[in-house]
Order: sequence, then structure tokens, then C-alpha cells
Amino acid sequence: MLILMEKGATRDQIQAVCDRVRAIGFVPHEIPGSIRTAVGITGNQGAVSPENFMHLPGVAECVPVSKPYKLVSREVKPEPTIVDVRGAKVGEGSLSLMAGPCSVESRDQIFRTAEAVAKSGAKFLRGGAFKPRTSPYAFQGLKEEGLSLLAEVKRNFDLRIVTEVKDTETLGVVAEVADVLQIGARNMQNFSLLEAAGRLRMPVLLKRGISATLQELFMAAEYILSLGNYQVMLCERGIRTFETMTRNTFDLSAVVLIKHYSHLPVIADPSHGVGISWAVPALARASVLAGADGVMVETHPEPDKALSDGQQSLTLDVYRKLAQELGELAEWQARHR
Ligand code: PEP
Ligand code: MN
Repeated sequence: MLILMEKGATRDQIQAVCDRVRAIGFVPHEIPGSIRTAVGITGNQGAVSPENFMHLPGVAECVPVSKPYKLVSREVKPEPTIVDVRGAKVGEGSLSLMAGPCSVESRDQIFRTAEAVAKSGAKFLRGGAFKPRTSPYAFQGLKEEGLSLLAEVKRNFDLRIVTEVKDTETLGVVAEVADVLQIGARNMQNFSLLEAAGRLRMPVLLKRGISATLQELFMAAEYILSLGNYQVMLCERGIRTFETMTRNTFDLSAVVLIKHYSHLPVIADPSHGVGISWAVPALARASVLAGADGVMVETHPEPDKALSDGQQSLTLDVYRKLAQELGELAEWQARHR
């Protein structure tokens, strides 16, 4: 249930509602809006009676939430969430470009990439240090050494770091360097990891599972929000279908539907979505026009030599051109939204 406060409700009145929610054994979530504040309730198994709240001063209305995902849904929060990553505001209306290699491989590789990414105007560098790989024999990432390189990049460029957290054991060290914690497709339903990320107070990029429905993606995000971390972005990265000519099937409709059903920013990742470098620019452009708040692409100084995902990584030259085009499309999109 959602408790809508009156327009002029005071801090004390909002506090009293939150206290009442706790007193009956549930968890309150204060949701500020531009017109009025709402208080969401989680932790309840069945319906909560409005009688508990209607008599409290400042309460305007109690509305049931029909969706199984609550805090993630637009029903609970009609206004878009803006995730502020050290001053870069994702979901504010401008396009957030996140680019970089699949994996951090060497100082030279990550610095050359970071330079190109920073020059392109992007505010986010992506790159994995802990890599969950399908094969145990494949490159698993530089791990702590990769994190140190990312920390060095951070000191040298105006870039925010998006890097993957593979498990709860390494969450602490990854969170020290990351500005955005990436939870990958393979971990979308790692509930211990989701809960641990929910207990943090830092931005999380949650990727859609390889064969997850949008409702499953929303429920996974709900784990994080229900523990009080509301700084979550949702990422469409392609799903497994019967098609074999592409690595995955990039679900552009997901970008549109996520924005419709949720207030959380949506990031499109056409690199993993299609898995073929020449097909990435067209899908990146389409993502901007579909309304994505951000686009994540893999780029590498020498894709042929990449230790992971080289076949879908753009050369730095192709990336530079794409970044400029996406900037122009984003301006067009902002004017026509
Ligand atoms: C990645 O971003 O490099 C990655 C492993 O992505 P996903 O979890 O979407 O496969
Ligand atoms: Mn990758």
C-alpha cells in the first residue's frame, strides 16, 4: 500500500506515519515527490488496512499497489528517479554514455580507453575486474590489480567507474573503487548479492538476466530498493532466444516498457545485446530514440586482442564517431520527447 500525504504535510506528520508503519511490523519507504510525499510499505504479506493510517494528521489517501513489484513501479513513484553519480545525473533527461572494455587488461589498455572515453564527453568508464565467465578456463579478470588500475584511472580522469561485482565476498573491495556497482546478467537472481547491494547506499546497475522476464528484473530490483538503496538503474542487455546469428536478442521493447512501468533509469547495452561489433552502432542509436537514459558500449584499443568480448567491442575510432552521433540524437530526442 501507498500512503499519500497532503501537499503541506509536515516533517513530523510524515515521521508519525513512518513510525506507525514500523509499529505494526512493516518497513516504511519515504518517497519524496515534487508536489507531495508518499510513504510506501513493504514487509507485509497481505493487504494492510488503511484504517491504520487514515486518522493520522497529514494523510490524504491510502492506495493499494496492484503490481507485485512496488517500490520499483511508477504506481508508487510517478516521477522519474535521477541517480546522481558524483554529479553525473542519470535519468535527468540527458544521455549518460558508459563506455570501456569488457575487462580491464593492462594499464596501457585501460588508460588509452579512458582517454578516448573522457574526450568523447562520456562521464562513465566501464570495465570489469572480477569477471563471471561461462568457462572456468577463460580469463577471469585482473581482480584486485584491475581495481587498482580503475582507481588510478579515477584519479587521472573525470570519469565515474562502472564495474561488476561478482559475489558477496568481493563486494567490499569492489565498492571501494566503483562509483556504480554492476550486477551482471548471471547474478540478477543472486539474492544474497542483491540484499547486500540493498544494504549499501551507492548506485547499482542491475542487468537483466539472460532469460529473465521484465517482471523478474523488476522483482530483482525490488530486493535492492526494499532494503533502502533507491539508487538503481536497470539495464537491457539482450535475452536468450532461438536466434543463433546474434549472441543474444537485444530487446528494444524492454527499453520502452521499463520506462513505462518503472521510474528507474534504463540503460541499454547493445554490445552484449547483439554481440557483433558492426551491429552495435545502429542498435545504440535506436536505443537513444527509444528513450534510454543511458547507453553502455564496449570499446577497446585493439578489439582483436581483447581477452574477453573482442568480437562485440568497438575500436576507439568507431566509438568516437558513435559517441558524437549519440549526443546529437539525444538532443533531438530531448526536444521531441
Ligand atoms: C559485461 O558487462 O561485461 C557483462 C559480463 O555483462 P552481462 O552480465 O550483461 O553478460
Ligand atoms: Mn562483456
